[in-house]
Amino acid sequence: MLTPEGNAREVARMKLNARLRRSRAVSGSRPMVTAMGVSTEVDPVCKKAVRSRRIVSKHDGEAYYFCSPACKTTFDADPAKYLG
Ligand SMILES: [Zn+2]
Repeated sequence: MLTPEGNAREVARMKLNARLRRSRAVSGSRPMVTAMGVSTEVDPVCKKAVRSRRIVSKHDGEAYYFCSPACKTTFDADPAKYLG
């Protein structure tokens, strides 16, 4: 049986959980989707959306796209730093 004190603690805990869920939803990284509903690649180095797929690097069988040759060079130097 819940005491009034225990009940208040439970409510406070649920509020905290709701707040944590919200902040995670905001900061969580998701694949970017344009207004057209077409997914856009994200440059793993600078995190900018990449619309053209001209600059590409293959790593572990995955293709990564970059906004500029500079970002590709940075990625190629140390891919693990930008993945996972
Ligand atoms: Zn970039």
